[in-house]
Amino acid sequence: MTTPGTTGLILEEPLLFEQSVKGRVGFSLPEIEVPATDLLKKIPKNLFRQKPAELAELSEVDCVRHFVRLSQQNYCKDVGLFPLGSCTMKYNPKTTEAVARIPGFANSHPLSVAEEMQGNLKLIYELQNYLAEISGMDHVTCWPAAGSHGELTGMLMIRAFHSSRGNPRKKVIIPDSAHGTNPASAAICQYEVLTVASNKEGILTADAVRAVMDEEVAAIMITNPNTLGIFEENILEICDIVHKKGGLVYCDGANLNALLGMVKLGDIGVDVIHINLHKTFSTPHGGGGPGAGPVCIKKKLEPFLPSPIVVNENGTYHLEHDRQQSIGRVKAYFGNFGMLVRAYAYIRELGPQGLRHIAEMAVLNANYIRKGLEGIYHLPYSKPTLHETVFSDKLQKEKDIKTLDISKRLMDYGYHPFTIYFPLIVPGAMMIEPTESEPKSSLDQFIEAMKLIAKECEETPEIVKTAPHRTFRGRLDEVKAARELKLRFTNPV
Ligand SMILES: *Cc1c(COP(=O)(O)O)cnc(C)c1O
Repeated sequence: MTTPGTTGLILEEPLLFEQSVKGRVGFSLPEIEVPATDLLKKIPKNLFRQKPAELAELSEVDCVRHFVRLSQQNYCKDVGLFPLGSCTMKYNPKTTEAVARIPGFANSHPLSVAEEMQGNLKLIYELQNYLAEISGMDHVTCWPAAGSHGELTGMLMIRAFHSSRGNPRKKVIIPDSAHGTNPASAAICQYEVLTVASNKEGILTADAVRAVMDEEVAAIMITNPNTLGIFEENILEICDIVHKKGGLVYCDGANLNALLGMVKLGDIGVDVIHINLHKTFSTPHGGGGPGAGPVCIKKKLEPFLPSPIVVNENGTYHLEHDRQQSIGRVKAYFGNFGMLVRAYAYIRELGPQGLRHIAEMAVLNANYIRKGLEGIYHLPYSKPTLHETVFSDKLQKEKDIKTLDISKRLMDYGYHPFTIYFPLIVPGAMMIEPTESEPKSSLDQFIEAMKLIAKECEETPEIVKTAPHRTFRGRLDEVKAARELKLRFTNPV
């Protein structure tokens, strides 16, 4: 079996400033045919630069080549398997891109009045309904711009809910396997975080929650399936314990991909859940690009929804801003509207059966990799996983090889590394999420690459410890990069 590898025509690319040639321009304009105005004289002197901006001077071809070469150094889902766990790097169908580019959507002005954007409002309204149905919840807001932003929005609503009953409460329970954004969101909402340990099987027990649950606790934030890819099977009992003391259940739904069409979290006691459209509903992400983190809630939290809300009055849509108990605006205009369009198109294209099939295939693919690498890499938890699987470097540590080395070596075999050192409860974690969009042949290739690396760890450990060797750049000094930040480029000209 051949793995993709990383050789080929990848070109060295200096900075634009280093390529700059004095006097070179990227355009040619004809002589001016009309009388010149003295507009420049009307601008106050103090607004002018004192010396010219130090811009690179380049031709059109210099610029085009520069950016195309850089783009060829990129690794993306359209190039190959992107096993980053927890991130659900799945393929984004081009149909949804086409829909997002329909001029009526792409060119709509955020300040248009409601009458002029009935289509946009209808799309948001219908997307909310789909997400409510998928999650088993009553109401949805589409404004949050990311999963973490959804967490903040949800926690603000939980605080507003408790405050409206006279006491915002003080604490939030979070398991030790949680994504770091969970405690951060709770803390920003002025809650003290109570960390509870997962058990040997990697899940929360009802007893662990019962031991810390009291009337000071505003909510539990639980991720299901959790960041180990394991279903929190005690969730019914946990929801019950929290509800009995007046607390609410927040579910981090970033891993919804594993449950699509299988489990409605609202039906098993969840009060608030955020969904990462950029993970589950296939809108682009990575590189900090725009995402969307809609929040779905139960009826009792409806008065606190961020404003405005989209209202449907017999097929005419408008925005309602004036809401007494709302937590206020969380995002300007219509959130990251382009992401909402893509998610809507994706849901419509797949339909209920298709969505369920996503979860089935995502789980099958993750377990295929798990089985394929079992015994070769250490599995810290024996329970079968859902959409992702977590290994550790325990076996390779015997040869003094760590997760970082293995992930660097994987690049030589042509793959973006998986998520490393997360979740924190697994020392040397290697978290792999293939997603449903990989065919079996690509999973086999990936498994083969991982096996070859394991063999190298035994036979030629130095190769792994000093990897990558075939990439454009060798191993970077990550400590130096963090300690000695160099953010300014000084123009050599
Ligand atoms: C990705 C992720 C988040 C955060 O989502 P962003 O959109 O990156 O802010 C939160 N929790 C879990 C479990 C995640 O995987």
